[in-house]
Amino acid sequence: MVKKSTDTKQPMQKASHFYPPVVAVLGHVDHGKTSLLDAIRKTDIALKEHGGITQRIGASKIEFIHEGTKRQITFIDTPGHEAFAKMRGRGVSAADVGLLVVSSTDGVMPQTKESISLLKDTEIPFIVVLTKSDLPNKNAEKVRQQLLKVDVLLEGYGGDIPAIEVSAKTNSNIKELLELILLVFEVKGENPSFSENGQFKAIVIESKLDQKAGPKATIVIKNGSISIQNEISADGETGRVRTIIDDKGIHLKKATVGDAVEILGFEKVLPVGSIVIRGPDKGSSNDATPRSTTESLERSTLSIVLCADTLGSLEAIVNAIHKEVNIVLQKTGEVSPADVLFAKSVNAIVIGFNTRVRPDITKLCVVEKVLFKNYSIIYELIDEINDVIRRKQLKVEEKIFGKAKILASFPFEKTKVLGIAVLEGRVAKGDKVTLTRKDEIIGESRILSIRIGKNPVSKVEKGHEAGVVILPFLDFTIGDMLISHG
Ligand code: GDP
Repeated sequence: MVKKSTDTKQPMQKASHFYPPVVAVLGHVDHGKTSLLDAIRKTDIALKEHGGITQRIGASKIEFIHEGTKRQITFIDTPGHEAFAKMRGRGVSAADVGLLVVSSTDGVMPQTKESISLLKDTEIPFIVVLTKSDLPNKNAEKVRQQLLKVDVLLEGYGGDIPAIEVSAKTNSNIKELLELILLVFEVKGENPSFSENGQFKAIVIESKLDQKAGPKATIVIKNGSISIQNEISADGETGRVRTIIDDKGIHLKKATVGDAVEILGFEKVLPVGSIVIRGPDKGSSNDATPRSTTESLERSTLSIVLCADTLGSLEAIVNAIHKEVNIVLQKTGEVSPADVLFAKSVNAIVIGFNTRVRPDITKLCVVEKVLFKNYSIIYELIDEINDVIRRKQLKVEEKIFGKAKILASFPFEKTKVLGIAVLEGRVAKGDKVTLTRKDEIIGESRILSIRIGKNPVSKVEKGHEAGVVILPFLDFTIGDMLISHG
């Protein structure tokens, strides 16, 4: 789990604490997906080190410096709509963040709508990328209005989906897009229970038969790590990892969360969308299947380990439960000591449905301070859980984290930095903010970065001054107030 720094005097954490977000790019044909990915790849500092090797798998990991720290993002190139569609319905997404590419000259087209529906189904947070902003006939405002009409509620227009205008031709806002991806991932897309030591889970995004080497699969690792020689299984097939190769063609001994790698080791060509786990295939009942990586906004998420008597009741519960509930493990059968310890490790509660509860499990839950509830009536279970979520959401909505006054304005690259003094609470990176002028709301935005003096910090407390960059930019004036909330 990535912990946010709370010490304003410390620089950001070391890169090893961060997992790369996995990003999928969707949008109408000719709207600039390929050009965007090419422009992004050119920013990769590692590519220069490796002499610009041509990419060999349908994903690429780029490295760049973010606030003085080396960060990485993995882009999935190939899935396109078809593969994305294959992955949905399995309750998982290979990507943590989506980019909805819309040409700022052509606007919303049929495949844009299809992409929106895929993104919404998968429930991953996404960013609208308005491409071709260098063209004279662009009309970003019109495109924003079109998006609102198809229920893409943009930031600054009453929603919280960020939009950014870029050009793959002039490279304008490409770096800012990368920063925005990190921000969206940190705020909305990151699953705090995923770690390199967690239960291994990966998704096949490409699969083919190599005449010489045998079946090859490109996988995106969502949780845990794999190493050469590990036993793995997917789609009822068990294999042993023979090679792991990254997007730059480098042979690795080990790969971990956020990596996209090609592996050899299965005897058959796996279907795209298959889930790869460690060890022999035990069937779906033992598979730890977090439903999605989006439900991780810590403040509003309730994580549960769910054990039900039958697959039928398990599915019924999963379908009826509030989308904000993060089911970190679901299985049929009785609650085991390992389930309780896993729940403890990810800060989840254990919910049983019609399962036998051994006395030693009840005792273990008390000792380990893991909340356990067993139900025998489905609607009671659903009602109680959904009620907890609703109450949590209410609390979040009401929460104001801090208030700051705008004292100055400094030009910074192509935008302006807001010089603020925090009057109440605190203002933190990633916070939603409302800009007000004499109690009138001017607009909604989000804190992209904060600096105290020259140092990037993650938050600024009452009594301190700082420079903040907000995205989208709002036309502020000195004396305006910035209200930060969840
Ligand atoms: P895709 O089908 O979505 O992958 O779109 P492409 O990346 O192939 O782009 C389609 C066309 O738009 C190509 O002719 C590109 O050169 C052009 N294009 C893409 N991005 C930009 C941009 O930012 N500015 C300009 N002027 N043209 C662009």
